Amino acid sequence: MTFDIEQELEQINQYTRKAVAQDDVYIFTLTLCDNEVDRDFERFTPEALAQLAELFKGKTGLFDHSCKSEQQSARVFATWVEADPVRKTSQGEPYTTLKARAYMIRTKENEALIAEIEGGIKKEVSVGCAMGSLCCSVCGADRRTEGCDHRKGHTYNGQLCHDVLRDARDAYEWSFVAVPAQREAGVTKAFLKEAPMKPDILETVKAADNGLSLSKPQLRQLQKEIAQLEQAGAEAAAYRAKLLSEIGRGVTLALPQIDKSLFLEGCKAMHAQDLERLCDTLNKQTRDMQRRPQLFAKTEQTPTDNQAFCI
Ligand SMILES: [Zn+2]
Repeated sequence: MTFDIEQELEQINQYTRKAVAQDDVYIFTLTLCDNEVDRDFERFTPEALAQLAELFKGKTGLFDHSCKSEQQSARVFATWVEADPVRKTSQGEPYTTLKARAYMIRTKENEALIAEIEGGIKKEVSVGCAMGSLCCSVCGADRRTEGCDHRKGHTYNGQLCHDVLRDARDAYEWSFVAVPAQREAGVTKAFLKEAPMKPDILETVKAADNGLSLSKPQLRQLQKEIAQLEQAGAEAAAYRAKLLSEIGRGVTLALPQIDKSLFLEGCKAMHAQDLERLCDTLNKQTRDMQRRPQLFAKTEQTPTDNQAFCI
């Protein structure tokens, strides 16, 4: 791959406070990560590498974790994904790497460091990133939200179990380290796995205030919860309908002078507890009224009896 210095300086100057010239900067190429299963038995998909390519633009790299001064840092100003037309990974995919061009401002302090990079001594890079999906390569289960019995590094039916990393959410800094995790080009990735969601998916949804992305198992869990809520809702609606029907019957019997449909319309806004109370009141009223004609009959009969007695 060839690089056009004018074009690169233009790209670099998007990140600098004042424009730099060719002599001011040291530019080098990095391999940030690839799609091979690494020493941690984890693997980025080529799609994840493409997402990381965008996320790593402008990100700073450190050469020494204990020394975070300006002089000891470099910045990625261009990234691209390179697929090898011939070479295949252990998983049978075209071997794909995420490459970057980075620059550092030449100073007296980093002369030695530049010499080390030139000499190929410092070439191990670790990348920090957040991945939205981390799945078992054997069964596809999300490692963070649902467990499975497959263990990383073990072989199942001739298949090496590892974690498949997808859905790159963020890229943090990258740095040169002594021991790389990725076999190729000395790259490791001390990536920060995002905290798993709360076990109660509904709580997660309720607490979300800035969008939410769900894994497949989380989506299944949410769909199950929705189905349960729909069932409970249907049962509650049936109970309310039963109460309203009973209230309608009560109104007809106990309050015949009232417009029943208007009365029921008003009832619709009431809570189930209030509907229950209203229903009880109307039922009691109806029972009292059904009892009353017998009492009237008795009082009417009394004088008759008396009359009979008098006779
Ligand atoms: Zn599994």
